[in-house]
Amino acid sequence: MSRVYNFSAGPAVLPEEVLEEAARDMLDYKGCGMSVMEMSHRSKMFDDIIKTAEADIRELMRIPDNYKVLFLQGGASQQFAAVPMNLMKNKKAGYIVTGQWAKKAYQEAKLYGEAVELASSADQTFSYIPDCSDLPITDDMDYVYICENNTIYGTKYKKLPNTKGKDLVADVSSCFLSEPVNVSDYAVIYGGVQKNVGPAGMVIDIIREDLITDEVLPGTPTMLKWKTQADNDSLYNTPPCYTIYICGLVFKWLKKNGGLVEMQRKNVEKAAILYDFLDNSKLFKGTVRPEDRSLMNVPFITGDEELDKKFVAESKAAGLENLKGHRTVGGMRASIYNAMPKAGVEKLVSFMEDFEKNNLK
Ligand SMILES: *Cc1c(COP(=O)(O)O)cnc(C)c1O
Repeated sequence: MSRVYNFSAGPAVLPEEVLEEAARDMLDYKGCGMSVMEMSHRSKMFDDIIKTAEADIRELMRIPDNYKVLFLQGGASQQFAAVPMNLMKNKKAGYIVTGQWAKKAYQEAKLYGEAVELASSADQTFSYIPDCSDLPITDDMDYVYICENNTIYGTKYKKLPNTKGKDLVADVSSCFLSEPVNVSDYAVIYGGVQKNVGPAGMVIDIIREDLITDEVLPGTPTMLKWKTQADNDSLYNTPPCYTIYICGLVFKWLKKNGGLVEMQRKNVEKAAILYDFLDNSKLFKGTVRPEDRSLMNVPFITGDEELDKKFVAESKAAGLENLKGHRTVGGMRASIYNAMPKAGVEKLVSFMEDFEKNNLK
């Protein structure tokens, strides 16, 4: 067996210990004679799995009792519609557009009401986070929406926007569980798990309870109504059982490894190795305004498309996979999520040093 260093933005690297444990459990989960994939979602075994997973994420993120945790299908993109359907009482909301995912959410919201662009960084290819201290938020807006870490462009809010008292909704897909957060600062936190948490197929929603009501937009499908899911503890229909199980193992791994405080320390350390190199390189350069840099997704370029291609091909041959930038922006991107070991980032930087020596004209 030989494993590569996988810098994919998602689905992405998972902790090796978790994969090993899942492999051990594969044929016979805890003596029940079947795999987690084969068991009823109404069984006692699975009930333990989902309840333990919820308890562990609550502990990790210190989620207050007045927030519900939902395990849902449809990925983060499904929530682009669910958010306005469940929250747009006044049919108006403010969106901060900091990249493609924020833009998609904004465009989806327009199907259901008046979505107002409060700020955008499109003028400089989303390479920064706009000033959010005094946004044109009006009283009749139901919520303010952000994408907290912009997976494609590699930016991250270092400070949450001033929402002028309005509820904040955040897509945290690519920074989920990467550092401690104060859940009470948000009305809704949600993220697809395939970036930093688990396998594809699920989004986790953390929603303040008073926002979970029967008052949804007319025509909201039963499955997209948060109240349906909350009333049934995410078991209204068959949930993504195996994904919930693996996420549960990842939560245990996070707890064992010092929780989110320690994760943040490691993520800061790993990102610094790469950013320090980029800041001093004569060949490579980061594309994001330094104060807005993400700890999770690090885009960089050489400034020469042919050389970028060569870099991607040669890095792959060296066991460094998925460093090609997003198809819409080109260049390179290293996603260095929780499960990427420091050794992987060090190997990348050492490869970049060699590449620079060999290719600098
Ligand atoms: C990947 C991603 C999405 C889309 O996730 P899906 O689960 O594929 O719908 C949405 N938002 C962000 C920030 C992402 O990184």
